[in-house]
Amino acid sequence: MKFIAKKPREGINVSDEHPLVEAGTLIVGLTAIFTIVALALIFIIEVALYFVSTEAEAELFSGWIPADLATVSSSDDRREQTQLLVDRLAAHWAETPYEFRVEIDDSDVANAMALPGGLIIVTMGLLDQVESENELAFVLGHELGHFRNRDHLRALGRGLVLSLFFAVITGNDVAGIGISATDIALRGFSREQETRADAFGLAIVHSEYGHVNQAARLFERWGASDEDSSAIASYLSTHPRPGDRVEQLQNIAARDGWRTDGQITPLAWPAP
Ligand SMILES: [Zn+2]
Repeated sequence: MKFIAKKPREGINVSDEHPLVEAGTLIVGLTAIFTIVALALIFIIEVALYFVSTEAEAELFSGWIPADLATVSSSDDRREQTQLLVDRLAAHWAETPYEFRVEIDDSDVANAMALPGGLIIVTMGLLDQVESENELAFVLGHELGHFRNRDHLRALGRGLVLSLFFAVITGNDVAGIGISATDIALRGFSREQETRADAFGLAIVHSEYGHVNQAARLFERWGASDEDSSAIASYLSTHPRPGDRVEQLQNIAARDGWRTDGQITPLAWPAP
């Protein structure tokens, strides 16, 4: 039997649907695809982090320091005192695999961050803002909370976490991955990550002092000052609103029956 090709009817490539309906379908479809891809990437990160143990991470990054950091001398008194305070606070987190290292970034902009391998960076600008050890202890405890939840690795971004994963698998050096502190500081954490880090930080402070008095006082001051100071803008851009944090911390303290009065410990160096 001979096959005779029929001519297609006119307008076969023109859809019967209204163009707007087609555009809508396309947008919904693309959104669905992007959502699936994003969820898949988040899942891959979680799997990668599962295989990069904290021990492996701590070992890989021991001695590592981001290239863009302007650190003060290791013999600086404030660095040593802050290190001692971190050591005291970390002692309440018995099972931690990290050996925390403190570096002070010689920057006027207030900030504190958690970096791979147990590196905690605090800026001179932040040390200038705290008025008691209790205030500083909470800021540091909050950063310990990010280590606890491994937020600091998620903040590296998907590409870097996957590079880290392959570095662990292949035994390569992490120096080639190229992580900068600025990158991480700009990325910031989600609201839930911040809330969990705050809860952990407050618990650490409570364990250390037996009360949580003045833990949130730095944020009370920042919340009360309506001047949009560039000195604290960077910290505020990557952390929740000070007022919200203060309220949340008060709620935690009330829920757990923690004392909100108690003796304040002065800073180990003269207050500004
Ligand atoms: Zn944080």
